[in-house]
Amino acid sequence: MERALSVKSLAVLAALALSGCNIAAAASQASAKVEDAHHSDDMVRFGKVCEDFDDWDKPTAPFQIHGDTWYVGTCGITAILIRGKDGAVLIDTGTDKGAQAIAANIASLGVKPGGIKAILGSHEHYDHVGGLARLQALTGAPVLVGADALDVIRTGRDDPRDPQAGMHAPMAPVTGTLRGVADGEVVDIAGIKLTALATAGHTIGATSWQWQSCDAAGCLTLVYADSLSPVSADAYRFTDHPDYIAMFRKGIARLRPVACDMLLTPHPSASDMLTRARTGTMVGGPTCADYADSKTKALDERLAKEAAAK
Ligand SMILES: [Zn+2]
Repeated sequence: MERALSVKSLAVLAALALSGCNIAAAASQASAKVEDAHHSDDMVRFGKVCEDFDDWDKPTAPFQIHGDTWYVGTCGITAILIRGKDGAVLIDTGTDKGAQAIAANIASLGVKPGGIKAILGSHEHYDHVGGLARLQALTGAPVLVGADALDVIRTGRDDPRDPQAGMHAPMAPVTGTLRGVADGEVVDIAGIKLTALATAGHTIGATSWQWQSCDAAGCLTLVYADSLSPVSADAYRFTDHPDYIAMFRKGIARLRPVACDMLLTPHPSASDMLTRARTGTMVGGPTCADYADSKTKALDERLAKEAAAK
């Protein structure tokens, strides 16, 4: 917290020096500092109240991650709200039940349902997008997911190629406006530009999102990197699906080199978000390259285990 505030304080001093330091500017900067301190406390509280690998549906209060980017998820599942000039964008909804806590968090930030101009998805599993139908009904917003996730989102049913196929109950189908995004596509919604990164592996349609977030101290490139863990149903062997393994490695490789000042993940624990929250800032966590390296290791270990069990 101190580090974040001191950086901001320096920026405030610099801004005041440039502006000639009138009293009105000083007063508004002082109130901005109070607001930042308050938000930082909310972040610390998240780190203390929630636990690693916590319950997917356990509500927790929202907090400011950085600039216009807010955490509105539950203790166990991340949901991100980005506020723009002309409305807001929501990324992920949690489960159908968790979506109710997320809707309450969004409302508590003063954003009305109609203020949500689009709902973006990470990967097509119910713990992250099971609430899409509910939140689309509430907000009327279009849903955007990776092009290869469209069928699952439209029908609510597993993709048979998914290593976890058959493990999850069906999701409520998304019946409103639904659009697939391509790798590298930039979507521009409510004055917010987000780049979609196709990071298949954990699922076929897994998509990461990258955007700029700015505050008084400057702008950062934030990446919401999708899950890349090689999890499967008991009988599934990745080794039996060489094309899937190649796609998985391509997905990890897509993420490794991208601009990534701050890494966020659909499961907070996957990028130490709770540990970081306790420090009062999300700055200084693992990089996208660190994340890609750890996922390569996990995939290699999984394949070695399958080979040993043969
Ligand atoms: Zn998943």
